[in-house]
Amino acid sequence: MAGKVIILGGGESGVWSAALGMVNGWDVFLSDSGMIKDENKAVLLQYSVRFEEGVHSFDPQELADIVVKSPGISDEAATVQFFTQLNIPVISEIEWAFRFQDKKIVAITGSNGKTTTTKLTWHLLHEAGLNAGLGGNIGKSFAHLLMDEPERDIYVLELSSFQLDGIDTFRANVAILLNITPDHLDRYHYDIMEYAASKGRICLNQTIGDVLIYHAQDELVNMVLADAAPEVRRIPVSFNEFQNESIKLSDGSLLTLETTGLRGRHNAFNAICALEVGRAFNLPLEDLQHSLNSFVNEPHRLEDVGELDGVVYINDSKATNVDAVFYALEAMNKPTVWIVGGQDKGNDYSALDARVREKVKTIVCMGVDNAKLMTHFGEFGIQIFSTSSLDEALQTARQASVSGDAILLSPACASFDLFNNYMHRGDLFREWVLEQKKL
Ligand code: ADP
Repeated sequence: MAGKVIILGGGESGVWSAALGMVNGWDVFLSDSGMIKDENKAVLLQYSVRFEEGVHSFDPQELADIVVKSPGISDEAATVQFFTQLNIPVISEIEWAFRFQDKKIVAITGSNGKTTTTKLTWHLLHEAGLNAGLGGNIGKSFAHLLMDEPERDIYVLELSSFQLDGIDTFRANVAILLNITPDHLDRYHYDIMEYAASKGRICLNQTIGDVLIYHAQDELVNMVLADAAPEVRRIPVSFNEFQNESIKLSDGSLLTLETTGLRGRHNAFNAICALEVGRAFNLPLEDLQHSLNSFVNEPHRLEDVGELDGVVYINDSKATNVDAVFYALEAMNKPTVWIVGGQDKGNDYSALDARVREKVKTIVCMGVDNAKLMTHFGEFGIQIFSTSSLDEALQTARQASVSGDAILLSPACASFDLFNNYMHRGDLFREWVLEQKKL
């Protein structure tokens, strides 16, 4: 039965939640305390959604049956508290959209590797001829997918911890929990267990016939999945299933990464998880290998952007935490000049010490404040520089490198001190290399 819904936030997930509500006969009101982008406003106008921007003004006479919160809004926000105190359910857009469909859901979460694994999973299903849609935390929001691509049989969704926080009846037929390492702790009272518990919600409501694919060697993952329903089919995945570019699935089948563009142990792990989904949908092994070979990863993730004077340049700008850098360094097979730094998120760099000693010949810190990095790595006896712009960092890295080396941008930090976002940082890195090649 349709009722009244208030949607908080006029971003991608908010406006499409509103549209979804409208076409399903709900009385919808959307409120954004900031200004709504023109393209999003156009969606609201197209579906005749009542909305306000620049202010949250709720008429107590107009209270909703349910509130849908955008993932960017914290549970502690005054507006959210207002409704929780009135015992009005506040749910995420994922939960909201879930209630309007009955298709198969593949849901993927983790601290690192979500996008790669989600895209690869979708690619495997799509190439095999299954009618699958892709979205969630990347590309189209789930509500947007349901509006644009209602005919899909399967939805492959990347989910963030914020999106999982607000689910209630959402159920994934196939769920993947890749790993849990510190990230976004500012939203979880700096409590890793609280953040881990959010990730663990990926298996909420899973039941007989459902599949749960997870990192068997990750302590936090095992801890938060301990309560998963016993009838769910569990597929633990470990790094041991990858040797000499060969990967082994839980049913014993073997595939190779040699013929693919995927590099590094972390990507082998992501590939195994995605392939297990393929097997759960009974896709033949030859088809899976074929699709694996044709997969092209998103930019900014160990992206090879070209070579200058025999030096390879690798853009891993998406590595905004220490764990992602750990695997990037591990994947390097040339003496490496490492560009690191930006806005520190409370990082503990010591997890990188052994990898840095083994792989890195020069460290180039790039940020407004490099003090923490300079202090931590300054005593390693490795050449280290402090720079404060991309151009300076790249000039320095170029001078420090010789033919046969690699220059790796893998910052371990957010980009906001010098760039708009990680994509901006990675795009400028790539452009710089392409410009130099023209000279
Ligand atoms: P997410 O969507 O979770 O941020 P991405 O696939 O975009 O994940 O990758 C983000 C960063 O993490 C990249 O630098 C990538 O090389 C690295 N990465 C990818 N998969 C993993 C993994 N399984 N474990 C650790 N790091 C990973």
